[in-house]
Amino acid sequence: MSETLPPIPATAPPATPAPADLDRILRDPGFCRHSTGRVAVVEWEDGTGWSEPRIEPYGTLAMDPATLGLHYGQAVFEGMKAFRGADGSVSLFRAADHGRRLALSAARLAMAEMPVELFIRACAELVAADEHWVPGGYGQSLYIRPLLLATEAEMGLRPSRRYRCVFLAYPADPCFGSDFRPLAVTAATETVRAVRGGTGESKCAGNYAASLLTRTQAQAAGYDEALWLDGLERRWVEELSTMNVFFVWHDEDGPRLTTPPCDGSIVRGITRDSLLTLAGGLGLRAAEEPTAIDAVREGLRTGALAEIFASGTAGAVVAVGRLGTGDGDLFVGDGKEGPVTARLRAALLDVQHARTPDTHGWLLPV
Ligand code: PMP
Repeated sequence: MSETLPPIPATAPPATPAPADLDRILRDPGFCRHSTGRVAVVEWEDGTGWSEPRIEPYGTLAMDPATLGLHYGQAVFEGMKAFRGADGSVSLFRAADHGRRLALSAARLAMAEMPVELFIRACAELVAADEHWVPGGYGQSLYIRPLLLATEAEMGLRPSRRYRCVFLAYPADPCFGSDFRPLAVTAATETVRAVRGGTGESKCAGNYAASLLTRTQAQAAGYDEALWLDGLERRWVEELSTMNVFFVWHDEDGPRLTTPPCDGSIVRGITRDSLLTLAGGLGLRAAEEPTAIDAVREGLRTGALAEIFASGTAGAVVAVGRLGTGDGDLFVGDGKEGPVTARLRAALLDVQHARTPDTHGWLLPV
């Protein structure tokens, strides 16, 4: 083993660290560096159905090497957050929507679909147990990662008759940092992440594996992320590996926001949906609209495309400052964050931290 790689810890630190240690962690949590030391677990078995949620210490999963989920990829997950409000209370953000999306992801992979009510209850019980782990800084949160995995062990391709959902929790800064430094992304011209009719809309583990090679090559070439194009024509912009993408166009009527439509190969981002909704309230025109990479290039050259940003639970709203097109790099405006990106992020974080009224019913107090 390389000397620079520490061994994978068998278990997380204790669920109740000394107050001084917890204070230190919550001031500078990074992104998911410290587990809360607790998980929620829900299980499903053919004939028995779903168990009630259990809160357990964080620990390794002992699995038979013939486990179906490991061989045939029945593994789906979610990424969601709980935020501390201005009054100190803690709320889950759009928990029912995350629960519905996990069920849709599971259905696509012929896995058991957890009732949304049970999903919310498991999250809420975990967050209630981990309440002291929720940081209070603006943009900080408790990140929750529900992972649903096929656990039956038997060789041969078929849907598992047993599943386990483990909900992990971590205090978190936004994944690309709290300074929201603009990203550099580059269009993936050689590989595709997903095709319509495939699993691109499902948050299944395989989609992320499919993105890794190109994403890693992009990072080695000095970019933060790969920008995925459609699998058929290699022309239409889809999304990043873990975030949706938005464009801000300027015409004579002012800024206009667009994002590619979710028609099968793009994850239906809950942040994306929130921003489309919030844009209306800010008086911004917004539309789901197919956008060709050529139109992006042209818009950047003429200045008609003023801003590009990425949206997702983990990173919130982050500007894209530089775009590799396979044919040289183009800066987005002056390469810095634009005003529409900043306004939308503030509008989102203000709702998440209950600084503005929750008019859409997105917060669920725990
Ligand atoms: N696209 C992909 C591929 C993702 O993994 C995510 C993260 N869930 C998103 C978009 C953004 O979705 P959300 O806003 O719900 O986090």
